Amino acid sequence: MAQKHMNQYPIPMVPGPTTVPQIILDAMNHDYPSPDLEKEFLELYNQTENLLQVLYETKNRVVIHTGEGMIALWGALKSTLLPGDRVLALASGVFGYGIAEMAASLGAEVKIYGIEYDQTFEDLDEIERLIKTFRPKMITAVHCETPSGTLNPLENIGLLKRQYEVPLFYVDAVASLGGTAVKTDEWGIDLCLGGSQKVLSAPPLAAFVAVSQTAWEIIKQVGYVGYDALLPFWDAQEKFYFPYTPNWHGVAAVHQAAKLILDEGLDEVFKRHEMVAEYCRKELQSMGLRLFPAENATPSPTVTAVYIPRKFNWEELDRRFRGMGLVVGGSYGPLAGKIFRLGHMGRQAKMELMEKALRVINEVVNHS
Ligand SMILES: *Cc1c(COP(=O)(O)O)cnc(C)c1O
Repeated sequence: MAQKHMNQYPIPMVPGPTTVPQIILDAMNHDYPSPDLEKEFLELYNQTENLLQVLYETKNRVVIHTGEGMIALWGALKSTLLPGDRVLALASGVFGYGIAEMAASLGAEVKIYGIEYDQTFEDLDEIERLIKTFRPKMITAVHCETPSGTLNPLENIGLLKRQYEVPLFYVDAVASLGGTAVKTDEWGIDLCLGGSQKVLSAPPLAAFVAVSQTAWEIIKQVGYVGYDALLPFWDAQEKFYFPYTPNWHGVAAVHQAAKLILDEGLDEVFKRHEMVAEYCRKELQSMGLRLFPAENATPSPTVTAVYIPRKFNWEELDRRFRGMGLVVGGSYGPLAGKIFRLGHMGRQAKMELMEKALRVINEVVNHS
């Protein structure tokens, strides 16, 4: 049987991995020769880095790892932290708390500033106090907390980082990059993490890190050399010597994905996400559903989280949605079984698709 398009759900709304359009599948569909030998690969890698720099709004180098988001999350921590280093972890969800645990597992002295999962970091007083008293080497934050559908504003945290000369600002932008502004340089982000399978709508084959000059200096001091290390990427392009066989298919997919976004225009793409997200929130509420993020929190333009209505459990709701061609995300950690999520990111941020999804949700929730 032809396996050209395996996605059997006509209404794919999972917040990652997202559905992959044919044009990106086509970019991967080649018998590529050895990327270690062919200059053509190096050119593609360099061009892809340049496109990602535009998405990241940065002049910093962007490392492209083989793998998916987690390799970037781990690699950036291991490459810059030594046991005893102080890390201030801003946590408002599964990934924020998870990054704190990851840093602690590396021996860092981690102070968690945690808030409820339905909140976002709007108030800076406590962050400022902690920076002043704890004097961290690194602040970690998550831009879009995918499991709770929230978006943490980062601009002012970046200002505090500058004001108090915190060396490193580490930001997980895996689920926001390409769907909403990620102003890496303006916000003072030193390690900005992205992945291929969320907004870029490519398969889970690549992860990226935009690395600042300060971060490179620290990376050289730390000297970490594992598989996920950033250090070898310092001069990998110049020497045309990558630390492992690069994934030509993955880089080709990311190149095509980034090009799709930039051909449409960054502002246009951001507007499209904002429009679909707003429509989604408004319609869900008018169906009588309750959004998960609190009134005073910032909802993400890439994913909407909503409480599961009392008359269903998650398995039953998921089964009914799938029966009508819709597949959505559940959630994780303390939110598992409590909320479901619509991933309107990348190629899934389309009004027609959202209308179809909402029709199914209304049918299941209010007419069954
Ligand atoms: C998806 C995601 C990641 C990376 O997870 P994967 O294992 O690559 O799927 C990291 N952070 C956030 C916020 C994410 O949404």
